[in-house]
Amino acid sequence: MSSDQTLQFRNPDQADQLAERLETLMADIDEPVTLMHVCGSHEQAIAKFGLRSLLPDGLSVRMGPGCPVCVTNMPEVDEAVAVAEQGAIVATYGDMFRVPGTQKSLADARADGADVEVVYSASEAVELAAEHPDREVVFFATGFETTAAPTAAILANDPPENFSVLSAHKYVPPAMEVVAEMPDVDIDGFLAAGHAATITGYGLFEPFVEEFELPIVVGGFEPIDVLLGVERLLEYIKADVAGLENAYPRCVSKEGNEQALETMWSVFETTSGEWRGIAEIPGANLVIRDEYAAYDTRERFDVEPASGGPDPLTEQCICGDIMAGKADPDECELFDEECTPGNPVGACMVSSEGTCKIWHEYGGHPDF
Ligand code: SF4
Repeated sequence: MSSDQTLQFRNPDQADQLAERLETLMADIDEPVTLMHVCGSHEQAIAKFGLRSLLPDGLSVRMGPGCPVCVTNMPEVDEAVAVAEQGAIVATYGDMFRVPGTQKSLADARADGADVEVVYSASEAVELAAEHPDREVVFFATGFETTAAPTAAILANDPPENFSVLSAHKYVPPAMEVVAEMPDVDIDGFLAAGHAATITGYGLFEPFVEEFELPIVVGGFEPIDVLLGVERLLEYIKADVAGLENAYPRCVSKEGNEQALETMWSVFETTSGEWRGIAEIPGANLVIRDEYAAYDTRERFDVEPASGGPDPLTEQCICGDIMAGKADPDECELFDEECTPGNPVGACMVSSEGTCKIWHEYGGHPDF
């Protein structure tokens, strides 16, 4: 997108008009409304552009389970640490590097002498394997559909024999279902992540809307995109209709990227898995199919979980509640005290998509 187009989606006059429309809609709805977005990039836009200050009284927009690094479970980090300590080169995205496992992060493992490299893509991890033919290179693969599809493309294209993937990839729709069903979470509509929908297509959400009778709008990441998504959701709520809408048509189609989806589902299948601090979620973890077992790190290495429990401070972390929409970062007693980006206790303070890190960076309070 050109910078002119970008500025078009940051137009203050349009933002004011949308804010006025939100005010009118909330007056018509006449009861509190809670919306959930499912993406750290939405939270970044909301915080960076101060969008919560434009929301009328009674309208709350909370972050859900939209930070893939934050929902990566501690035992998955432990597995990556275990293979690094067995001599493999572990390559992972920068956001994962300092995420705490039960006892160690990958950064701790590197400080203790393990070989851990930060990469920007799965293909960079493959390059690492090609550069080190005598070493095992393990790509600790995290992220939702947006990164699972490129990981799958790598595995489908005959990577080097010394390369394998430790999949911690997650699949978002089942997590939305679990959050929608939580008795203590009362969500009136979802703002779905535009980038994941570029892969999956927005049609994926049709069964959810039908079953849960909640509106979903797929939204982009510029401030006008977010405000428009919120406005469209309020229109559905006012009309008492559980609709599905694509408010990000410049990138998202109903079908998504069919070739990427075909590759992703040829390599991965879903299984039940624990999302850190949230719940065991059926069908929300992506594991490598038997056909690609030769490249599955779990088949090559002993990935026994670490013994011993986590640090007592870690047990006070409420990151899971934050990602389930039950709490805000400043309700955590450790927020900006014992837990800071320089000394993170939980994953939500590590990742640039983690709510705690975002709130820390933008002043620490929702009314920024
Ligand atoms: Fe967890 Fe730190 Fe966030 Fe508290 S502030 S919920 S300890 S990540």
